[in-house]
Amino acid sequence: MSVTEASGVSGVVRPVGPDFEALRRQDPELAEVLLGEQARQCSALQLIAAENFTSPAVLAALGSPLANKYAEGYPGARHHGGCELVDVAERLAIERAKALFGADHANVQPHSGSSAVLAAYAALLRPGDTVLALGLPYGGHLTHGSPANFSGRWFDFVGYGVDPESGLIDYDQVDALARKHRPKALVCGSISYPRHIDYAAFREIADEVGAYLIADAAHPMGLVAGGAAPSPVPYADVVCATTHKVLRGPRGGMVLCGAGLAERIDRAVFPFTQGGAQMHTIAAKAVAFGEAATPAFAAYARQVVANARVLADGLAAEGLAVTTGGTDTHLICADPAPLGLEGRAARGRLAAAGIVLDTCALPHGDARGLRLGTAAVTTQGMGEAEMMRIGALLAAVLREEVDNRQAREEVRELTQAFPPYRS
Ligand SMILES: *Cc1c(COP(=O)(O)O)cnc(C)c1O
Repeated sequence: MSVTEASGVSGVVRPVGPDFEALRRQDPELAEVLLGEQARQCSALQLIAAENFTSPAVLAALGSPLANKYAEGYPGARHHGGCELVDVAERLAIERAKALFGADHANVQPHSGSSAVLAAYAALLRPGDTVLALGLPYGGHLTHGSPANFSGRWFDFVGYGVDPESGLIDYDQVDALARKHRPKALVCGSISYPRHIDYAAFREIADEVGAYLIADAAHPMGLVAGGAAPSPVPYADVVCATTHKVLRGPRGGMVLCGAGLAERIDRAVFPFTQGGAQMHTIAAKAVAFGEAATPAFAAYARQVVANARVLADGLAAEGLAVTTGGTDTHLICADPAPLGLEGRAARGRLAAAGIVLDTCALPHGDARGLRLGTAAVTTQGMGEAEMMRIGALLAAVLREEVDNRQAREEVRELTQAFPPYRS
């Protein structure tokens, strides 16, 4: 069915989209919050490794009347009427995701990265099964066995670590733990591991013990899309990811898998763990996958990594202890202890200066480090020269060589020269 037939109209349709003035008239209190948040995002240095700036096209899809549509089920097999056009949107998202990542099957409905992981576990595991994943103290995600999360409550997680000296995954330890505990699934992926993951090594270990391999690639998936990081798709039985983070789409998740698991994954998403799909978000995912397939996005992904390398080198030169000695990705973990600060205090001091980032676990001990990423600043158009400035500024703030007013002035210069949204 054509778009015209399905919509029942011919001729020009005037798009209804975000009407900020309508919001301001109706609800000035909330409008102020939105404007303030936009100003905050555009005027501070955004170094949170999981964040990025979506395109105006992605925002337009998110703010469209597709948000009104109920669509339980999958394209061509819905539990609601009137799904002909949102089916087209979801099929586009699925086909684009499959092409982008070379996957047999894509489910683009998970509401978040955590829901994608939940669906993967629901498809492959039974409550009480043993799962081997990177331990939370080493950068495992909540869904990798936290006692505060469904994963830790319903499954028996065993954690592998990283080498306390090098900060690198010790594949021999993973192998030994797999042989000892015979897990039903092996999970690779992290919220703070700055290096490429050796998916072939994980596959080999999983095969030795007959375990499923689940790659939770939320962080590097945007780099994979741009050809700047190795892909888990040829190795893992199931790949979970977010569509935000480096991938620069709307907040949401997806699951990729081979044809043999397609039906189990789809049923694990709907109806097992979710209800109606969010069609505006799925349309925005389609837009983002389209963007990620362009040469411009490949150049972006390469620049994200180049920027992270320069920033990591800059921080190391300033005396911070950079975990693993550097990075292969958008992500940097650095211990500010050599400057006499613990991670949480350092984060607070930087926030007051207009530099926004997270803390993270460190390979050794209880203290926390700083986690930074270059996805957002690279979207803004910043390059290596700006990364050198940011590294020096960050260290100067931590050493209290500049006050907050001076630091904020430099942040303002950078963000005004590289606005995330040009109007
Ligand atoms: C970000 C992330 C998630 C969760 O994504 P949400 O959308 O916040 O639920 C899961 N696993 C890993 C490894 C992540 O980095």
